Amino acid sequence: MKILVPVKRVVDYNVKVRVKSDGTGVDIANVKMSMNPFDEIAIEEAVRLKEAGIATEVVAVSCGLAACQETLRAAMAIGADRGILVETDVELQPLAVAKLLKALCGKEAPQVVICGKQAIDDDSNQTGQMLAALMGWPQATFASKLVIADGAATVTREIDGGLETLEIKLPAVVTTDLRLNEPRYATLPNIMKAKKKPLETVKPADLGVDVAPRLATLKVVEPAKRSAGVRVADVAQLVDKLKNEAKVI
Ligand code: AMP
Repeated sequence: MKILVPVKRVVDYNVKVRVKSDGTGVDIANVKMSMNPFDEIAIEEAVRLKEAGIATEVVAVSCGLAACQETLRAAMAIGADRGILVETDVELQPLAVAKLLKALCGKEAPQVVICGKQAIDDDSNQTGQMLAALMGWPQATFASKLVIADGAATVTREIDGGLETLEIKLPAVVTTDLRLNEPRYATLPNIMKAKKKPLETVKPADLGVDVAPRLATLKVVEPAKRSAGVRVADVAQLVDKLKNEAKVI
């Protein structure tokens, strides 16, 4: 069973991004980039399935600039067997990525695609769902547990007020939530080994996909600054302020 794992290169989660002065987006020049954290969890899960003898091959895919090769090498250092870079300078939106992944699913015929539940840069939470729709495959999103057996995936999802367990037939799309696993650190020998693993580069046109953006960003603004708080002397003063100043009670 082959597993395909899309991995996105995003601004590192420790970086505090700044909005560009002209409001066209956030400034990512010279900031640290890393693999989207939910995609690290997806790779870890796929590698564990391979180690358990359930999967035979783990293929990582990244779509974007040539620098996404680093993200693919990081995925291979965790344990992916090979990488595919869909190289383009065009800023990719979730529908374009889903179409590229659909084309790759046609070529690679994976039984499972494990995506992150969302990319921490655009927070779209759309690509996995769009891919499932384009393929006509079942989907189970926000997985906190994944068991694969007998041509089906049993997926536990965290929902308001408890856990939901779904069983879906393969091939299918699963997206990862934070509690699915804790990704391992790549060891130095594995980082070295990853440099020799196969990495294929294709262009969107090779896959017959038009990746032109369909949505335009009108404006990006910083959240409003919070005003400083005040310390109250006692509960009576707090109630008075809530009643007469904030007028919320
Ligand atoms: P999003 O819908 O943008 O929040 O992304 C959800 C998931 O789709 C990510 O966690 C990745 O698994 C995958 N994905 C999105 N964009 C890309 C990309 N450019 N390259 C590879 N995978 C991607």
